[in-house]
Amino acid sequence: MTKLLSEISKNQRVGYILPKTDIPQLSIESIYHKNILAESDRQIPELSEVDVIRHFTELSKKNFGVDLGFYPLGSCTMKYNPKINEETAKFDGFLNIHPLQDESTIQGILELQYKLLKSLSEITGMKWGTLQPFAGAHGEFVGMKLFKAYFNAKGEKRTKLLVPDSAHGTNPASAHIAGFEVVEIKSDENGLVSIDEVKKHVGSDLAGLMLTNPNTLGLFEKNIIEIAKIVHDAGGLLYYDGANFNAILGKVRPGDMNFDVVHLNLHKTFSTPHGGGGPGSGPIMVNEKLIPFLPVPDIVFENNSYMLSYNKPQSIGRVSGFYGNIAVMVRAYTYILTMGQKGLNEVSEKAVLNANYLRVKLSKLIKIAYDTICKHEFVLTGKEIKEKYGVSTLDIAKRMLDYGVHPPTIYFPLIVPEALMIEPTETESKETLDYFVSIIESIIKDINENPEILHNAPNNTPIKRLDEVKAAKEPKLKW
Ligand SMILES: *Cc1c(COP(=O)(O)O)cnc(C)c1O
Repeated sequence: MTKLLSEISKNQRVGYILPKTDIPQLSIESIYHKNILAESDRQIPELSEVDVIRHFTELSKKNFGVDLGFYPLGSCTMKYNPKINEETAKFDGFLNIHPLQDESTIQGILELQYKLLKSLSEITGMKWGTLQPFAGAHGEFVGMKLFKAYFNAKGEKRTKLLVPDSAHGTNPASAHIAGFEVVEIKSDENGLVSIDEVKKHVGSDLAGLMLTNPNTLGLFEKNIIEIAKIVHDAGGLLYYDGANFNAILGKVRPGDMNFDVVHLNLHKTFSTPHGGGGPGSGPIMVNEKLIPFLPVPDIVFENNSYMLSYNKPQSIGRVSGFYGNIAVMVRAYTYILTMGQKGLNEVSEKAVLNANYLRVKLSKLIKIAYDTICKHEFVLTGKEIKEKYGVSTLDIAKRMLDYGVHPPTIYFPLIVPEALMIEPTETESKETLDYFVSIIESIIKDINENPEILHNAPNNTPIKRLDEVKAAKEPKLKW
């Protein structure tokens, strides 16, 4: 069992011996208000450098990451993140600048942001955008605020926002927080948005529709042009959840499908490390009619220099303290430049090929929810296994940890019972995909021969099965 730093602390042990200082020493209590630090926390662990290095190296070995193994977490695009992205993110001129510096001294990062927006405009088929949002969900919220501002400017009161039942939970949440009334649209028997369902809600109170494409079942919304037309004809706006852009990069563009706003998840599609809640970047890109409402500051190129412009009278205002998650932008732009147009095209081709390869192999082992050609991901259902053997999807997912891979997303999308949502991404080799298939074969064998081993899984990880409800309700944040 790994000990805490405070447990291995030794009085007076130091990592560095510093030259004598002529500045008077202050006690920690004199710097922090006494209420900030609990009595027991006032002791800062005293350790040598090697103690610290061993502690954190040991902890890092207990973790799982995409640099360690296969990570087919559906909807999250856990692709390999090329290390060249880290090199550029570390450039002095990006790492050591301050947001309050004069614009003339941060031309490099402003140029990068400007050119990134240009690239994303081209990739999405939109006119312009903002890099400020810190995540996809934040982008959705900003997009919804743009919808509001647009209708306010037109003097229209539109309240209803349509969201398909297969949507990511952030969609209805963002629409709701922005003040819309969320109306759920049922999927049809093929897992797609039903045109008839959309038509039912058309009226003068319709604000718009949020659509994820390909949707969270990994299926391309075939009727997207028709759906877009119905909503536009009714005076509504269209929001494209672009979290699944990895499936369509270089193939189709939301702008060409007549969408008004699209968010991208730079941390998913454009290869920047993410997980455990961050870091992220969820730029939104818009068409002509929503440009006036974009957040300030805008990044402009005038008189041969890049500048931050606040000259936007109809803007919804600021949506981030400064300019968003700069380091993620540097990584994403590096990725776009190193891949080039041809490379980005191949990303989606290989992501889709890999997903379909796995889909065909795995659907022979576990039932697939919608048995049709998919885009970047597909969803299996463990319903029959659960009914027949009493082994749940959670048990199957936990057992995968014993075999050294990260489990897929489970119990999402909500419309598939006992869902296992698998997204292999383009960066995995055929050998890795075949290895994953062999793991599922072994697990099916386990289910038949020794279901107990699944109920107890994971059996050989540093931490065993957690009581997830208790962990969420009674988190142990302190020792
Ligand atoms: C990941 C995801 C989101 C939310 O993005 P975050 O960056 O996690 O906030 C929204 N929609 C879909 C379909 C997603 O996969």
